[in-house]
Amino acid sequence: MWEKIAIHTKEDEELKDVLNAVHFGWESDHAQSLKPYYHFRGDITEIDGVLVKGPKVIIPKTLQGDMLKKIHEGHLGIEKCQARARQVMYWPNINNDIENHIGRCGTCQKHRYKQAKEPMEQHEVPEKTWRKIGADLFTLFGKNFLVVVDYTSNYPEVAKLEDLSSTNTISHMKSIMARHGLPSVVVSDNGPQFSSREFRQFVMQYGFKHVTSSPEYPQSNGKAEKAVQIVKRLLKKAKENDEDPHLALLNYRTSPLSGSDRSPGEISMNRKLRTKLSSAEKNMSPCTIQDDDDDREKYVCVDHPSGGATASTNQSKPVTPKAAQSSHSTDQQSRPVSTMSDVRTTRSGRIINLPSRYVHD
Ligand SMILES: [Zn+2]
Repeated sequence: MWEKIAIHTKEDEELKDVLNAVHFGWESDHAQSLKPYYHFRGDITEIDGVLVKGPKVIIPKTLQGDMLKKIHEGHLGIEKCQARARQVMYWPNINNDIENHIGRCGTCQKHRYKQAKEPMEQHEVPEKTWRKIGADLFTLFGKNFLVVVDYTSNYPEVAKLEDLSSTNTISHMKSIMARHGLPSVVVSDNGPQFSSREFRQFVMQYGFKHVTSSPEYPQSNGKAEKAVQIVKRLLKKAKENDEDPHLALLNYRTSPLSGSDRSPGEISMNRKLRTKLSSAEKNMSPCTIQDDDDDREKYVCVDHPSGGATASTNQSKPVTPKAAQSSHSTDQQSRPVSTMSDVRTTRSGRIINLPSRYVHD
């Protein structure tokens, strides 16, 4: 993808001039084509033929349509789509273009006034993720589902239930807990799945506190109920458009929460999850998974662009010998990516200084 963006950048009338200005200076009587970029010219740099503005890739005109389609996947609504895009890409008027693009989508229009907001907070939210979770059931298209949501990150887990028994609900909750760790508190309503003797045994066995709706906590399950609305809407929109519901969920999980620049996935897992927008992103630190047109992925640490496997940060993804070797053996193709450093080396060996926010989360 990076190479594709570079090729289109080179052919873009406007970006050709920007590239030129980045290399040879921004004249004060700048050309018309430079106008949209002039006021943040200090933030613009070039990496392997691609123009970047801070952490964002500047998308050439010819690729903007493709990007709009990717941004719109999952039909998350204008605000969320703009927030997703804002993290990774830029072009002049991108916000308007997203608004117009989504304005033409029947599904987004249909659900427009019902776009789910993030769950309202009635509970104390623990600092640590997956310590307090909410659970609720819902039915859609004749099938039953369990939603479990983390109070801290808003990350929703969804499981299709085979039946409505307490046993089946517990079994899926156990599976979710095996992934995210045991919670201290589980909040649910008083539905039969959660009020059974079996569920009480489960509470004892797994050692968490079970809080249910009660006069004391009249709206206690608001978090899970809100998550149900969000997930239901995602699944409905995916079905209406014959789209992959898993990708719709991924898009929600990787979209920044309103009022935040972090997504449920990022808060929950302490790393950015790779999405179809990630091909235009190089800030999935500490080590970036590079997306090449041949679909091979390479892990490259800039500190060791030729394949040194030393992980230098506390959250480093280990660079496997195989991945390290692959980046070594294809050195010509590899694009060294900075991790925690402000310095990047281009393929041609040129070293560029970048603003620190480019490389830090
Ligand atoms: Zn839509």
